[in-house]
Amino acid sequence: MEKISVPSLLKHISSRFTSAGFKVYLVGGAVRDIFLDRQAGDWDIATNATPDEVKTLFHHIIPTGIDHGTVTIPFKGMMIECTTFRTETGYSDGRRPDGVQYTATIEEDLSRRDFTMNAIAVSLPDGIIVDPFHGRADIKSKIIKTVGDPTERFTEDGLRPIRAVRFSSQLDFTIDGQTLDAIRPALGITASVAKERIREEFNRILLSQKPSTALRFMEQTGLLALIFPELQNCRGIEQKGMHIYDVLDHLFQACDASPRTNLIVRLAALFHDVGKPDVRVEDGNGSWTFFNHEKVSAKKTHEILTRLRYPLRVIKDVTHLVSLHMFHYEPVWSDAAVRRFIVKADKTMIDSLFELRKADSYAITGTAGHARYLEEFRDRIDAMIEAEHAFTLKDLAINGRDLADIGIPSGPITGVVLNELLEAVIEDPDLNTKSALLDIAREIHSQKIQTPD
Ligand code: ATP
Ligand code: MG
Repeated sequence: MEKISVPSLLKHISSRFTSAGFKVYLVGGAVRDIFLDRQAGDWDIATNATPDEVKTLFHHIIPTGIDHGTVTIPFKGMMIECTTFRTETGYSDGRRPDGVQYTATIEEDLSRRDFTMNAIAVSLPDGIIVDPFHGRADIKSKIIKTVGDPTERFTEDGLRPIRAVRFSSQLDFTIDGQTLDAIRPALGITASVAKERIREEFNRILLSQKPSTALRFMEQTGLLALIFPELQNCRGIEQKGMHIYDVLDHLFQACDASPRTNLIVRLAALFHDVGKPDVRVEDGNGSWTFFNHEKVSAKKTHEILTRLRYPLRVIKDVTHLVSLHMFHYEPVWSDAAVRRFIVKADKTMIDSLFELRKADSYAITGTAGHARYLEEFRDRIDAMIEAEHAFTLKDLAINGRDLADIGIPSGPITGVVLNELLEAVIEDPDLNTKSALLDIAREIHSQKIQTPD
């Protein structure tokens, strides 16, 4: 019998189960990661104890998915997800099982899991490996294969095809031919999957080493046209000029080239030119123009992210980056012009905006871009941010209360005056003192009284 050595924390937790006569196994991604020599993300265990029985074994559990037999056990600083052996009965809507049924054996539980690499269990505390679907062999050959008939498994749950492509990017695995072929016939089922579930898998694609691996499988199987028709429309849109890729390959390359840890920039990189097919016009010299494409791209990005129910903050930031990605700079710009740019871009988004530009330039030719003056621009921006110049109303040396003290009543006029003061300070940062600003405020106010709008 083959065994692995079991970490002591797992031995500890498992003894609570085994001393009460229950069986318990390590399952899911953690087992897969052990065989891949990767750091496991989180630990999932499976047991024949029912959730009520698990409750009696620990002081405190969190009923995270009690209807599906899942509870979370906080144990020595870890959160361990514990699921009772189960199978799922009937998937009439292709989205969620009609019911769950507790089963007696780990083998039955493994048979309901999605891919062979995810259907291996390790018995605790002895470390004996249970691998009825030869998941270890598939991990060795770096292949993603459903447990059982792929068409059946994808029809049961339309999220599984997206999980298959997600794992291809995350693990750098290929997808078994039959499994891949079963994705297209199941697109109708995938279409009805809750958008939030799709979004969570998609985020993991974006945060993987090379998202384009999954995105290309998505294109090949029709998943891209289903979930992101706007991206699919970018296929074959040639750009000429310096560009060596069509718009879709340019977007894939930009996404890969952007920083792996920043979801906002990765989203912006993938969608930054998604409006190009709509605005492309022949320029008469055998080339193309894409006038205003950043505005149309921002609008489409907003629609796409809203459709996938991204949080409002994410939608706002990504759309902002897309709308500004064509930002332009010349060394003749005055300091005030640089400060106006910082205000427009938002100080907190400058890093992301430059990351996006870097990825965009890279994806024109697939080599590091030699963006003219970009470094100089960044240096000038950094110097001004470091000098703590005022870029927002909050940075002004006075506020609404100070205005009230000199007789400017609080109300809509306050905002108007403060904004004019900010404009003055952006032109000349030396004006950002209390006395100078109060003088200007008096002047603005007296003009407003004489010439009300
Ligand atoms: P990660 O390390 O990225 O979390 P994971 O394999 O642990 O990967 P989870 O989504 O956490 O993925 O799921 C845990 C386990 O539950 C999987 O390994 C798999 O056995 C099973 N599973 C998850 N989702 C499904 C599904 N839609 N259909 C069948 N089995 C699933
Ligand atoms: Mg997991």
